Amino acid sequence: MWPFEQGPIRPPSEAESMLVRVSRNCPWNRCAFCSVYGGETFSLRSVEEVVADLDEMRDYYGPRVRTVFLQDANALLTPPDRLEAILLAIRERFPQVHRITTYARSHTLAHRQLADLQRLRAAGLHRVHIGFESGSDAVLKMINKGTTRAQQIIGGQRAREAGFQVSEYWMPGLGGAALTAAHAAESASALREIRPHFIRLRTTAVIRGTPLALLRDQGRFEELDDVAKVREIRAFLAALGDLECRIESDHMLNLLMGIRGDLPDDLPQLLSLCDEFLSLPAADQQRFVRTRRSGGIRL
Ligand code: SF4
Repeated sequence: MWPFEQGPIRPPSEAESMLVRVSRNCPWNRCAFCSVYGGETFSLRSVEEVVADLDEMRDYYGPRVRTVFLQDANALLTPPDRLEAILLAIRERFPQVHRITTYARSHTLAHRQLADLQRLRAAGLHRVHIGFESGSDAVLKMINKGTTRAQQIIGGQRAREAGFQVSEYWMPGLGGAALTAAHAAESASALREIRPHFIRLRTTAVIRGTPLALLRDQGRFEELDDVAKVREIRAFLAALGDLECRIESDHMLNLLMGIRGDLPDDLPQLLSLCDEFLSLPAADQQRFVRTRRSGGIRL
């Protein structure tokens, strides 16, 4: 057990980061696909509590810490003055840290004043990881995201304007069979308006006990198979057009881990990767899926 608090998750790209728990759990906790926080209640932690953790962390980790991730699901809900004090306390204790990042809900970003976000940027917060999931209002409503397409766009644009690196998670398969076309096209068009620095793929998985599993069991959500998800990813990538951004496939749920590169230059190569899989005979596609899922391929 650590002598400081740790939350349950972080983005895959923050695997090497020191995790600082600024708040506990998720203030929304109602997304239909999500099982992370279960019945846990959201709470903010005081500056004093977090600083006490930082003092323990300084002793525990020493000077090897280079990057920091602020937990849990929406640290930006912390009042800006308090979050600014925490950021400054991190930099004071860990002056060698060159990147501080956090998750942020679009809903929160869309309601924060630009000047407050700029203050947080100036205090050392570099990047926000946003659970964009979809740019389609129909999909956002079905999965009960608690944000609209318009808020996703405003929140992402505001984060960018404040000077953060913006990383948006998109979830292939989230619209199911009924909404796959809208999910691909409208997600791409919303992201073209946001112009994030990163788009990260996190494939939809229907987890037992979640509202999404209930929708599926009631016949109201038809899950896409792996082939249909790759078809959707291809449509999404093609619709990004000339958007300049880094795309990453860094989540273990993704089938094609090779969908990573700098857009738009690498777009033809990424489309070819999808086409390569889609043109395989069905038996070979299934063999590929089985081998990949057992950890044997990283295409
Ligand atoms: S996906 Fe994010 S915002 Fe939605 S319930 Fe889970 S942690 Fe909260």
